[in-house]
Amino acid sequence: MQTGKINVQTENIFPIIKKFLYSDHEIFLRELVSNAVDATQKLKTLSSIGEAKGDLGNLKIEVVIDKDAKTLTIKDHGIGMTAEEIEKYITQIAFSGAEEFVNKYKDKAAEANAIIGHFGLGFYSAFMVAKKVEITSLSYKEGAQAVNWECDGSPDYKIEETKKAERGTNIILHIADDSEEFLEQYRIQELLTKYCKFLPVEIKFGTKKETHKEGDKDVETEVDNIVNNSAPAWTKKPTDLKDEDYKSFYRELYPMTFEDPLFHIHLNVDYPFNLTGILYFPRIKKSFEVQKDKIQLYSNQVFVTDSVENIVPDFLTLLRGVIDSPDIPLNVSRSYLQSDASVKKISGHITKKVADKLEDLFKKDRADFESKWEDIKIFVQYGMLSEEKFYEKAQKFALLKNVDNKYFTLEEYASKVKPTQTNKDNRVIYLYTTNTEEQHSFIESAKERGYDILVLDSPIDAHYINHLESKLTDTSFVRVDSDTVDKLIAKEETQPSKLSEEEKKQLQPIVEEIVPKEKFSVVFESLSEKDAPMLITKPEFMRRMKDMSALGGGMAFYGSMPDMHNLVVNTNHPLISKILNEKNADKQKQLTKQAADLAMLSQGLLKGEELTKFIKRSVELID
Ligand code: ADP
Repeated sequence: MQTGKINVQTENIFPIIKKFLYSDHEIFLRELVSNAVDATQKLKTLSSIGEAKGDLGNLKIEVVIDKDAKTLTIKDHGIGMTAEEIEKYITQIAFSGAEEFVNKYKDKAAEANAIIGHFGLGFYSAFMVAKKVEITSLSYKEGAQAVNWECDGSPDYKIEETKKAERGTNIILHIADDSEEFLEQYRIQELLTKYCKFLPVEIKFGTKKETHKEGDKDVETEVDNIVNNSAPAWTKKPTDLKDEDYKSFYRELYPMTFEDPLFHIHLNVDYPFNLTGILYFPRIKKSFEVQKDKIQLYSNQVFVTDSVENIVPDFLTLLRGVIDSPDIPLNVSRSYLQSDASVKKISGHITKKVADKLEDLFKKDRADFESKWEDIKIFVQYGMLSEEKFYEKAQKFALLKNVDNKYFTLEEYASKVKPTQTNKDNRVIYLYTTNTEEQHSFIESAKERGYDILVLDSPIDAHYINHLESKLTDTSFVRVDSDTVDKLIAKEETQPSKLSEEEKKQLQPIVEEIVPKEKFSVVFESLSEKDAPMLITKPEFMRRMKDMSALGGGMAFYGSMPDMHNLVVNTNHPLISKILNEKNADKQKQLTKQAADLAMLSQGLLKGEELTKFIKRSVELID
């Protein structure tokens, strides 16, 4: 036997590792199983070039709990280590990595917690949960002597010859008293599912007993309980996979999700960076019950994180699936990631792929694309709002829907409405509704004039409209009820008014008397005789300010303003002339009120006492 001292300047490094290394102690299992996978892969490589001789035998990695001995063991059948290699890789190199880390971060616990995964000191993470760690190893090299290394968390360690029949390494953790959760079957199972689900070497945990009949006897056999899928779909060639394979992989990733994804994108790049993965489009409902953090990031099939916000653009986090890239630096803080050149490239690449896929679907089967539009609309709009590059591509397939449920690309729509909806200032006016029921009468009168009306009713639409206006030249969006149609799309030729200026002046106080001044401004307009005698509109400007105020900040002021409406009097309607000529003041007031109430009613603004009075008055008028 031989003893040694790990050569460190920092006295007793382990308590520091334990405290600061990772915010999640559970990560030790990922690190140790990853090491076992690496050792196994290395052996396969050596064998393929003839360096490792003979039959490789069983290469499964096993994770074993011994509750009585209070140990957790990770066994592999990989390359193993000789005594010299343990000295070198474990006590010198790995340790210097740990020391470097501690020196850098011992005063900055918060930053240390922000570090993602790997820092090249995987093995020492074992000391976060173990009071003593043993390594028993037999190297693949011919005539190697098995060794046992042991360290109790102080810089002192012990190394001696031992007996071990099988090639490979056993890492035996003597679990610390405060970490006994890691002796529980369910806990280890949970961690293996989280971190090791797609590791490329089979991992066996626990034994499953199965009974079957032999003659009339029940015979019990033990079967391996493999916890991982070592060849997940994203590592395969797209040409080898059918649509059903992608769907079943989706279910494997999200066992709690019952709905199939709409479509998928298989990412596969090896130059100038290495990236594989599959992204899925889930159905995103209008209600904005958006679930983020569903993309999982892997590095060579090792799970790293499921919060990818600095790695892909924000709008892509609405998607689901897997990204696997050993080129994403893991040993840096999150804020650094955003500025990292390769991360930028990766993020740009993914954005492009997603846009290409959507364009492809649009071109190949437009009807199918249209049928899925409502489910992907929020995603596309969000992308167009937040990523200029995406906007450029998405212009070609982003759709607008009108009240007749017809879909148009931006370009198609522009040429559709240009001839009819250009106003006297040469602006093209896009009319839209946020609610086809509530704004029904306005939609109808716009249609009567041959105008088209878009449906823009999702929470993101208000921003989308602003964005499109900034992009499309000479184009304005106005909500169909924000003014009378003839004002919204003001042409040169306005209808002549039947009332003179004198008569309007006479009428003004009569109308103003019947509505609260602070909520309504009375305006006169010469509309068609067929239009209603009075209308209620809400100026586009006011509404947008209100919409923006919901976002807070400097706009909040507008939110506290009262809701201002216009009460529009149609000077060409016979009823208005009738009101003007009515000699009986009471009757005149009654008629005015009735006309205004009808306008309110069509806007859903007539409620409570006012509504009751209106009904009573209507009955009287019928009499
Ligand atoms: P890293 O894996 O990042 O190199 P570790 O601290 O996890 O850092 O491991 C240090 C080294 O110890 C590894 O590079 C490897 O050479 C060796 N090692 C660790 N675990 C095993 C194992 N199960 N089998 C063979 N070698 C191992």
